[in-house]
Amino acid sequence: MDATTGTAPPRAAAAARLAGPLRPLWPFLLLLAIGLAMPLTGNEYWGLITTRMAIYWVLVAGLNLIVGYAGQLAIGYVALLAIGAYTTSVLAAGNVLPPLPAFAALGVAGLAGAVFGVVVGLPALRLRTFYFAMTTLGFATIVTQITLAWQDVTGGGIGIAGPMLPAPFDTTWGFLYFCLGFAAICTWLTANIARSRFGRALVAVRDAEVAAEASGIHKPKLLVLVFILAGALAAMAGGLFATLQTYITPDAFTFDLSLLFFIAVLIGGRGSILGPLLGTAILTVLPEIAAPLAAWSTFLYAALLLVIVLAMPGGIAALIDPRNRRNLPENRVIGPQPAALDALLGRREVPAPLTLRGIVLAFGGVRAIDGVDLEVTPGQVHGLIGPNGSGKTTTLNVISGYYRPEAGSMAIGPAPLPAGKPQGRAGLRIARTFQTPRLIGEASVLENVMIGGTTDGRTGFAEALLALPRQRQEEREFEARARLALEAVGLAGLAEARADRLQHSELRFMEIARALMLRPAFLLLDEPAAGLSTEEIRRLGALIRGISRHGTGVLLVEHHADLIFDICDQVTVLNLGKVLAAGTPAEIRVHKEVVSAYLGA
Ligand code: ADP
Ligand code: MG
Repeated sequence: MDATTGTAPPRAAAAARLAGPLRPLWPFLLLLAIGLAMPLTGNEYWGLITTRMAIYWVLVAGLNLIVGYAGQLAIGYVALLAIGAYTTSVLAAGNVLPPLPAFAALGVAGLAGAVFGVVVGLPALRLRTFYFAMTTLGFATIVTQITLAWQDVTGGGIGIAGPMLPAPFDTTWGFLYFCLGFAAICTWLTANIARSRFGRALVAVRDAEVAAEASGIHKPKLLVLVFILAGALAAMAGGLFATLQTYITPDAFTFDLSLLFFIAVLIGGRGSILGPLLGTAILTVLPEIAAPLAAWSTFLYAALLLVIVLAMPGGIAALIDPRNRRNLPENRVIGPQPAALDALLGRREVPAPLTLRGIVLAFGGVRAIDGVDLEVTPGQVHGLIGPNGSGKTTTLNVISGYYRPEAGSMAIGPAPLPAGKPQGRAGLRIARTFQTPRLIGEASVLENVMIGGTTDGRTGFAEALLALPRQRQEEREFEARARLALEAVGLAGLAEARADRLQHSELRFMEIARALMLRPAFLLLDEPAAGLSTEEIRRLGALIRGISRHGTGVLLVEHHADLIFDICDQVTVLNLGKVLAAGTPAEIRVHKEVVSAYLGA
């Protein structure tokens, strides 16, 4: 901690602030100003449409975190709107309990929405995309059936009157202002989450689940928090919707409406707040300005969706994101600065070695690793080499908890290292890179690197939601640390670029920066030199040596024999899942079987 905070402020101050989802702010203020100016038109009809837009946005703002950020296809969200609408109406009408004031009813609806948000979301923790989408639709059908059947409470098919807000919110314009204010708060809250480590983790789970796990992100816990938030917002939107409609029946909660919410996020674009906000505005207004089209709304949504998917897969957000247009400098070179490692890694207590004893793992009949022993010593580089398919990546996957070995044991010093549990590795300061870089293409390089520090986050979801000072301070520390890591690997100049615009070699260094965010005790590198030029390999070698000199034990899987023999302290050679030889580079270089089986003449 001190290493970063002690040296980083001047660097962080010099650097541009991390672009947040509300930057630039003016489009949001402009939209709000248009809404606030509606009474000047004197047109109550458009006042109602603007109110409806604000209410839909309250729901979509939360749904955006689920669909746009976490990539979970929740298409049946109208169910939560219905739950909120009925809860508020029933409680305000006093059908079951003594009547509650409208605001209290709205609050209870928010709580109910939080609970049902989790219920609707739970299948996402086990099911893949489309199956989850189907369960949300199923849930929407169940809710409609219950509202129809539970007549004494919901009024069945006849419906129930919506709640009335007290003055001054009981007029068209008063209610509009209330909804606009509420929508503005929801925008701020969801933007706070989006720009926090929770938001980055959501996107990481969507685009690079394995890297997210390796960074210590616990997907179920993360998704449940977001389901609670989105459910609460959707249900409160439902309460406002019932007020706007003045009377609700089960037919008000159609599949079309559910599609509208979902498509608003899709045409808005993933990982954006402004995009889905504009998407909501467009989808609310479109049927109004083309009244004859109203009957065609399902068709219209489907057509819009097709156009977006085919013509602009990034949605509105991609059109308005300046990072897409800015050109990256050509002929750029990666210039790692191992000196920056002092500030980043500092001097640390030297941990005990990581040992593997007799590890066995078979896939079907193939013994991918067959009794591997290995010891990675802190402060040293341990090379792991061998022909393709000899079990190197599998060994890394066992250490990082993706695979459970059938036999053998792992330990850090005297403490056993439990098999499985990939999310637990970051907490033990075991970081890794991947043979194929795992990137979050739509996020900036800086954000990709910040993911690596997720496990060190101390502030909670509620603090992030409200952007409390302690949370903002933590974010600044994350950012400063990520900039140091980028400086160390030589990518400081690309911090703000979108990761998917980087070259392959740059992505390899970016992954190392992400791993360095953990200040790892052990760093597992899977073929980091693949695809690099000779000069880049030399720099990579110096960087890896620098990292190990700061106390990290590096396990380096590589094919480039020169790099291995240049920088390793120890080398283990695998062949067909077995250790063929182990020793110093000098011993391995002249080892008869290694030379004949792997190194060649
Ligand atoms: P290396 O990284 O040394 O090239 P791997 O560890 O990727 O080799 O693979 C070792 C062996 O295990 C290979 O025969 C490979 O086909 C097999 N293998 C690796 N992962 C899987 C898997 N998930 N399912 C089935 N077989 C696998
Ligand atoms: Mg491999």
